[in-house]
Amino acid sequence: MRDAFRTPQDLLRFLDLAAMDPPAAPASAFPMLVPRAFARRMQSGNPHDPLLRQVLPDPDEGHSRPGYSSDPVGDLDSRRAPGILHKYAGRVLLVTTGACAVHCRYCFRQQFPYAGERALGHGWDKALEYLEERTDVEEIILSGGDPLMLPTRRLAALTERLSGLSSLKRLRLHTRLPIVLPDRVTKGLLEWIEKLPWTVVIVVHANHAREFDADVDAAVARLGAAGAHLLNQAVLLAGINDSTTALKSLMERGLEAGILPYYLHLLDRVAGAHRFDVDLARARVLVEALRRQLPGYLVPRLVCEQAGMPYKTPYL
Ligand SMILES: *Cc1c(COP(=O)(O)O)cnc(C)c1O
Ligand code: SF4
Repeated sequence: MRDAFRTPQDLLRFLDLAAMDPPAAPASAFPMLVPRAFARRMQSGNPHDPLLRQVLPDPDEGHSRPGYSSDPVGDLDSRRAPGILHKYAGRVLLVTTGACAVHCRYCFRQQFPYAGERALGHGWDKALEYLEERTDVEEIILSGGDPLMLPTRRLAALTERLSGLSSLKRLRLHTRLPIVLPDRVTKGLLEWIEKLPWTVVIVVHANHAREFDADVDAAVARLGAAGAHLLNQAVLLAGINDSTTALKSLMERGLEAGILPYYLHLLDRVAGAHRFDVDLARARVLVEALRRQLPGYLVPRLVCEQAGMPYKTPYL
């Protein structure tokens, strides 16, 4: 993380794009952040690189559009205790940290007030009290931010406390770290996963086939060998993966690494992200094309998160 790119100038110079006008820093609390391991997979000299476009700030981010807001998925309304988002039956999402290894410009959590929402540390006792009362909770989802930004010993302390919950069957991690910074998959992390008493599901997040390389493959294979079920969720992003070819390659490349597709999300309409929007009609055409070309298990479920719904809205 110490070596990560933190200014557009540095990243563009690294990619031989120094002649490109560096985008004016957006006036958001979401500065550019790109791990070197991820930047190395970008194509030098290509300003339209699909990995670069996910992370390069854009002056347009400061201008919101009608229909875009700071909390498009209703997270604030589903907060039940510090760090606890409980929207869906049986599953509780725990905001373990606000930190991520990469700042994705389309991210719907970029404007979420994390500082007060972390379950670890200060408010953790209240979060645990809530979970102890809810004997219907069968799955806890460690999310954030990115839970793997926490040191393994803190994750272990967290799961130690969760081990008292008798109804818990599954632990899920939503993380982008195995993709953007595969070095995070350390021996210590694998030992922690191996010892967990629940079924472990890891949902990673890659939007383009080129996000995979040999290091990612190795990290993902080790997670699988430690007993985790591996799924990928992607966001449908204009100019990045909004073609049948790009999506088909992503699903095939994921499978090569040992990951099955889970969700393909329509963009959450967070203020500043409108340049990534792909409309529902186009999304349906793309998924229909995938269905014609791929085995059923490689076709992701096209969903959109709508505030107040009992599950993520599926589109056929
Ligand atoms: C997306 C989400 C989940 C998980 O939903 P699944 O459909 O089980 O993947 C759980 N809680 C919250 C708050 C979510 O946003
Ligand atoms: S890693 Fe996930 S939570 Fe973090 S900025 Fe990217 S999309 Fe958002």
